[in-house]
Amino acid sequence: MENNNYKLDTLLIHAGVEPDPTTGAIMTPIYQTSTYVQEAPGKHKGYEYARTQNPTRTALQNAIAAIEYGKHALSFGSGLAASDAVMKLLKPGDEVISTNDLYGGTYRIFTKIFQPYGINFHFTGMSEVSAAEALINANTKMLWIETPTNPLLNIIDIEAFAQLAKKHNLLLVVDNTFASPYLQNPIKLGADIVLHSATKYLGGHSDVVHGVLIVNTDELNEQLSFIQNSCGAVPGPHDCWLVLRGIKTLHVRMQRHCENGEKIAHYLRNHSAIEKVYWIGFEDHPNHAVAKKQMRGFGGMISFVLKGDDVEKAMKVLSGTKLFALAESLGGVESLIGHPASMTHGSIPREERLKNGLADSLIRLSVGIEDVDDLIADLEQALAL
Ligand SMILES: *Cc1c(COP(=O)(O)O)cnc(C)c1O
Repeated sequence: MENNNYKLDTLLIHAGVEPDPTTGAIMTPIYQTSTYVQEAPGKHKGYEYARTQNPTRTALQNAIAAIEYGKHALSFGSGLAASDAVMKLLKPGDEVISTNDLYGGTYRIFTKIFQPYGINFHFTGMSEVSAAEALINANTKMLWIETPTNPLLNIIDIEAFAQLAKKHNLLLVVDNTFASPYLQNPIKLGADIVLHSATKYLGGHSDVVHGVLIVNTDELNEQLSFIQNSCGAVPGPHDCWLVLRGIKTLHVRMQRHCENGEKIAHYLRNHSAIEKVYWIGFEDHPNHAVAKKQMRGFGGMISFVLKGDDVEKAMKVLSGTKLFALAESLGGVESLIGHPASMTHGSIPREERLKNGLADSLIRLSVGIEDVDDLIADLEQALAL
């Protein structure tokens, strides 16, 4: 399919997917194979060994590249395996500047795995480019941003950071997991590498762990493909197939995530037990204007803090919801509730967390696509416990 002529909602369903040449199957088969028979040494159909290439993975990679408006995509066994591959573009002595409320697992791989290999990291607030720019020196090679951030839902101006990256000849990596390609397309805004934990909105059904990278140059694709094959953190074909199926409904799911998110954010904001609600759609959100500029909608991620940072009550709410399941992760069709301080962000030291505004009683919601009145009634009963 010639991708460039179609709108996103069409690309989500058709991009990368061709009827299977041997049978005409409309859905890409799960090529559950480790190797491919050759007619004569070196004479094959483009596939030699399944770590290097697999047709189910190829279909998914082509689809992902199209829906993020990049030239190439690469898929991995998890979001963190994708992050791992990106970090292997660097050498000892290189420096990375990143945001100070990064996804906990990314913070962990940076500081616990790659710092000991001699790569240096700086973490800073990124509501303005100036703080990051002040940290740039001759060793700086990469800017790594995540927007909206997790779980405080800060917004970083992708275009402004793309300009900063160009000015200093740095690679700009954007973790686009929270927004999904439906709400935001960082390549269009100047990013060099886009990362998704496809475990979240792309897969969308809480049934697969998967990661993808999207790039816009042949050079980055060659470097990352070399790492993908050499280090081998590749996904199995069944997982690729699940993500391929998931993305076909991304647009309809995201529309409902956004609608439900908006109603729940307003409900929480008016609740007497709640001190503060974090949701990027509020007009008084500090970066609302940037969110409006770079996103198509505001998504289903909401965090809130209880009056008096009441941790005891937070524990009751977390164990008291019936529809919202207490679980890590996000972006699935079902609603989840979580406690970042002890769950997703448990690997970040408490002082670091508090310094960055992540309160002990902060509760994070991944609003699903159930009936919103049922979801609100569930929160209402849990907040009354
Ligand atoms: C979950 C997540 C990751 C890591 O992805 P996995 O698939 O769990 O390895 C990275 N970044 C963000 C923002 C995430 O939410």
